[in-house]
Amino acid sequence: MAISRNALVAGNWKMNGVSASLAELKAIAEGVAGGAAGTAACAICLPATLLARGAEIAGQHLLVGGQDCSAETFGAHTGDLAAEMLRDSGASLVIVGHSERRADHGETNAVVRAKAEAAYRAGLTAIICVGETRPQRDAGDALEICGAQLEGSLPPGATPDNTVLAYEPVWAIGTGLVPTVDDVAAMHAFFRAQLKALLPHGGDALRILYGGSVKPDNAESLMRIDNVDGALIGGASLKAKDFLAIASVYA
Ligand code: PEP
Repeated sequence: MAISRNALVAGNWKMNGVSASLAELKAIAEGVAGGAAGTAACAICLPATLLARGAEIAGQHLLVGGQDCSAETFGAHTGDLAAEMLRDSGASLVIVGHSERRADHGETNAVVRAKAEAAYRAGLTAIICVGETRPQRDAGDALEICGAQLEGSLPPGATPDNTVLAYEPVWAIGTGLVPTVDDVAAMHAFFRAQLKALLPHGGDALRILYGGSVKPDNAESLMRIDNVDGALIGGASLKAKDFLAIASVYA
């Protein structure tokens, strides 16, 4: 029997956004509250500097999240943010293992898993990102690479409530390039089988997002693919009009 999963449309503002940008967040919150995304859940992962103010603006219908957290709880880790701090600022979720973190900060699967566990301890949902580079895809290794990332990054305590998986091919992020529908379908089906094997009691219900150059004009074809349970959106989440147009696939 096919299981129905409530879609999640999540934005990632990355290192973008100052006080003036909160007007876009307000417009997103108003659109979502007005039913723009139907029953899909919507979230924006903000820079930490905007989180507390963003949480107030987001209100009841739009979730806000962080973009990374420390694997540690509290202590002498200058410049890092504990998952508890994000939660205290109003976050409900946090991205871990984004390819920009893996590349810029050398985050390994073990580190990503520890961060996801820190998120769980704080009561946050972890959006765990995995994805292959272009050379890895060209070599025919995409499934193997992404499968190993998933297996290494997913904590044994993952459940459909505390974890969302995001498939983000590195070469599709910020480039305007997207994989074919068949390639996305194959990858998400592969993840689904792997999740069911790793989490016999939750693998079927855990959401798998697609991320990488999702735009209003390609959202529908990507979101309709089997086992695509929503989107993780970078650039297009910075503008309320574009984010809401993508979310409206679920209206
Ligand atoms: C991202 O970095 O998570 C992302 C999906 O970016 P973009 O939508 O800009 O490709």
